Amino acid sequence: MPLYDFRCSAGHGTEASFAMADRPDHVACPVCGETSRRRIPSPRLSIAGSSAFGLLESTQRSAHEPEVVASTNPGKRSPTPTTSNPLHRKLPRP
Ligand SMILES: [Zn+2]
Repeated sequence: MPLYDFRCSAGHGTEASFAMADRPDHVACPVCGETSRRRIPSPRLSIAGSSAFGLLESTQRSAHEPEVVASTNPGKRSPTPTTSNPLHRKLPRP
């Protein structure tokens, strides 16, 4: 069941879980007893602009718009060979 957030006019927040068909618009505040209204949740506005949000967005976008790259390891070209064994130079090259 989804968790709903309620807040009374005094600013006390409370959370309660209800079935979606039975969710009330108001509950009694557990602190002061006043009527607490159900709040509309924000759509991830707290993490918008952060690196975590960028990672989530690029991951979702890559599902249908994969990035086109020129090489498998861009920007990490090392001028030195990866092996110093002279016998490896005799191996066939692609
Ligand atoms: Zn209250």
